[in-house]
Amino acid sequence: MSTPPSSGRPQAQAQAQAGEPALGFETLAIHAGQDPDPQTGAVTTPINLATTFAQSAVGEHRGFEYSRTGNPTRTSLETTLAALEGAAHGLCFASGMAAEDALLRSLRPGDHMLIPDDAYGGTFRLVDSIFQPMGISYTPVRLSDLDAVASAWQPATRVVWTETPTNPMLRIVDIERLCRLAHERDGLCFVDNTFATPYLQQPLSLGADAVVHSTTKYLGGHSDVVGGFVATNDDAIAAELAFVQNAVGAVPSPFDCYLVQRGVKTLAVRLDRQCESAAAIAEHLSRHSEVESVLYPGLASDPGHAVAERQMRRFGAMVSFTLAGGEEHALKVGASMEVFTLAESLGAVESLVEHPARMTHASTANSPLAVHPGLLRLSVGLETLSDLLRDLDRALG
Ligand code: PLP
Repeated sequence: MSTPPSSGRPQAQAQAQAGEPALGFETLAIHAGQDPDPQTGAVTTPINLATTFAQSAVGEHRGFEYSRTGNPTRTSLETTLAALEGAAHGLCFASGMAAEDALLRSLRPGDHMLIPDDAYGGTFRLVDSIFQPMGISYTPVRLSDLDAVASAWQPATRVVWTETPTNPMLRIVDIERLCRLAHERDGLCFVDNTFATPYLQQPLSLGADAVVHSTTKYLGGHSDVVGGFVATNDDAIAAELAFVQNAVGAVPSPFDCYLVQRGVKTLAVRLDRQCESAAAIAEHLSRHSEVESVLYPGLASDPGHAVAERQMRRFGAMVSFTLAGGEEHALKVGASMEVFTLAESLGAVESLVEHPARMTHASTANSPLAVHPGLLRLSVGLETLSDLLRDLDRALG
């Protein structure tokens, strides 16, 4: 399984070029960029804490000089994650927001971007409060409506930023058609793949120019590490990102890289079970008298179902729903769950419930992206399904 540590070239691509069948997702998750340590044979990637690396002569080194610029544990993780996204390049950052920031730094004053009309609150805050004052304008659009996207596109539009499924409305965007629309207008399409993960959906294969992740979520998977990642097949985007990664320095520690890599090894099995439980919970909620509507792309009645079926392996493990009793009831239900923990974040082994309007998406209050106050979002974890269903029934009353 040798993958050159500094190339970031995914094993699957190398094999395809050699005419061998591509390795499966689970194999890549466990082996890509993770050769046994040549000195000791250790089967897990060592946590390399060195900040600097010896040079035999000025500029002559073994691939590493200084750990902000490059670190062996980080390179190993970057190689693993790039392989999972089918990417030629992968770069890790200190958080999902740092990854988003690095990607958007290619925009210049006068540029315009399109964002989802239900973007993650942190993405909205970054675009609205950091990039907009620097002269980069944006328009929120319902990205599942491609006619609306075409109408919102301006001569200065350089990027359409998408999430799918979106956070927290779980709307589905047709990545392939959105990318085609952007490319026909000489624009770029960046996809936040945090909710789907590369196990369920691979946006680069559908035409995306770059994919971004909060590795804090499913990739880490255990609520114990904050991180971010960007994958791309575009050499120029990758070179610019590597420059920003080094120049700005929002890099993850070697220990954080180790935790994400450890999490990724079990991503597929975790998600298979989590998706199965989420589908059962969505069906259950859709029959509950206290529930007004259930947002889950796996439901046949969901407006995004057909596209999700085409571009995703399964429908994900996030379920949102609105309560007939509105905000007051939503707050009460969220606070009275016992197996689901009331907490921000998602994607880990523990099931979580949160109230987006007051928690993760509070930054969208009084904006066009403001979230329905009666909405609750569930991140379905790995507890016993019957315990999760009973907890919901008890809390819903
Ligand atoms: N993208 C999405 C879809 C998210 O849900 C989040 C965090 O919740 C982020 C990006 C930001 O990631 P982080 O919290 O790792 O900075």
